[in-house]
Amino acid sequence: MSCQNDYCCTRLKSDLEQTCALHADRFECPDALINKSKYGYGIIIHDGGSSSISISFCPWYGTKLDK
Ligand SMILES: [Zn+2]
Ligand SMILES: [Zn+2]
Repeated sequence: MSCQNDYCCTRLKSDLEQTCALHADRFECPDALINKSKYGYGIIIHDGGSSSISISFCPWYGTKLDK
């Protein structure tokens, strides 16, 4: 769980970088967990919309997330 890269860990990185052949929009893909925007990181809520719960710490390792 290192912080020297752009992302706090490979779990977060792989989630943000994953692409899905079925869902072009990450908000439509149940496999997409995290959204990164200019407001920071958020956990995607799969309610058919594009809402997310903003988070300040990595869900996997608890590392503080920079915006
Ligand atoms: Zn992490
Ligand atoms: Zn998908």
